[in-house]
Amino acid sequence: MDKKRLDYYKKKLQQRREELLRAIARTEQEGREADEDPTVDLADKAANSYTKEFLFGQTHNDRSLLQLVDNALVRIREGEYGECAQCHEEMQQKRLEAVPWARHCIACQEKHEQGLL
Ligand SMILES: [Zn+2]
Repeated sequence: MDKKRLDYYKKKLQQRREELLRAIARTEQEGREADEDPTVDLADKAANSYTKEFLFGQTHNDRSLLQLVDNALVRIREGEYGECAQCHEEMQQKRLEAVPWARHCIACQEKHEQGLL
């Protein structure tokens, strides 16, 4: 992959990374505030634990994605970015455009999802 494209994806990934870090920090802050609210009665407490569970699921998703984004940035540094981890073909541009942290080309990803790999 030429350097210009690589820089382009790197920028996209770094941008996504910052968004995720902000989202995680915000969600954790909301979780803490839900904890510290002294005015809650019993009904609120139930709603509160539901909210916390929801927030927890939210950070969990964000963190999983953050991990994928970080891994992609490592591959950029190590010059392995843009290559399918399965068949080692160069990945389609539209694949990387849609999912810049993708590890597999579309064909391998589909096989993966069907449990064939
Ligand atoms: Zn592949």
